[in-house]
Amino acid sequence: MNTLDDATRLAYLKEMGITVWQSRTAAANTVDTVPAGNTSTSPMTPKAVESQGDKKQTWIQLLDEIMHCQKCHLAKTRNKIVPGVGDTNADWLFIGEGPGFYEDQQGEPFVGKSGQLLDNMLLSLDLVRGRNVYIANIVKCRASEAGKDRQPTEEESAICMPFLEKQIALIAPKIIVALGKTAACALLRISREPSLSSLRKKVHTYEQGGMTIPLVITYHPSYLLRTPQGKAQAWEDLCLAMDTLEGIQNAN
Ligand code: SF4
Repeated sequence: MNTLDDATRLAYLKEMGITVWQSRTAAANTVDTVPAGNTSTSPMTPKAVESQGDKKQTWIQLLDEIMHCQKCHLAKTRNKIVPGVGDTNADWLFIGEGPGFYEDQQGEPFVGKSGQLLDNMLLSLDLVRGRNVYIANIVKCRASEAGKDRQPTEEESAICMPFLEKQIALIAPKIIVALGKTAACALLRISREPSLSSLRKKVHTYEQGGMTIPLVITYHPSYLLRTPQGKAQAWEDLCLAMDTLEGIQNAN
């Protein structure tokens, strides 16, 4: 249950650059109707029954596999692999497209200015990096061209995706938030043709191996840094995700 008071949330929203307060209910009311079958109370298959010891061992094996991966050519130019960070029993899973320059230096997703913005987005949801939230990317190694960050290709995303699928199976989050179109389309297993705005304002479904997890799509923090006017829309998306999760929790 979300316990953040309005004054504190307002302070975090101000940090995000959103100066017009919009109550969560009001924001949620601005979104389109959730498609049938994808309501906020849509059930999620229970987490696989696995002892904590087995799960820890599986995580260790998976991280070892990721850290030694040479499956695609991004391995040749990476500095550090960025598997993900956070609470492995989290309800919330945030997924971006891939590490950039600073992430590649530090081995952690979403550092630097986009990381600060994401942390503020998390705080507005009463979440702190590492507690009840896990943050990962579609690809684990930096994609770059002429020294500059670039979007990972669909092929690179497809090669790396099995790692994320294993992470999702282990975490079994109650809600996934896709940050940007690359992440959204990879999770929906569709081409990158649709615009991000056409994918927002609805609760999608991420399906994998019998698991059905609500998926909300919003802007990537890097985009929001370049386009601050999108922050209010991102807040609407976060409200939709929060209400979806609360609907699941209230139904249980
Ligand atoms: S991007 Fe993914 S598949 Fe490619 S080398 Fe890195 S970990 Fe392996």
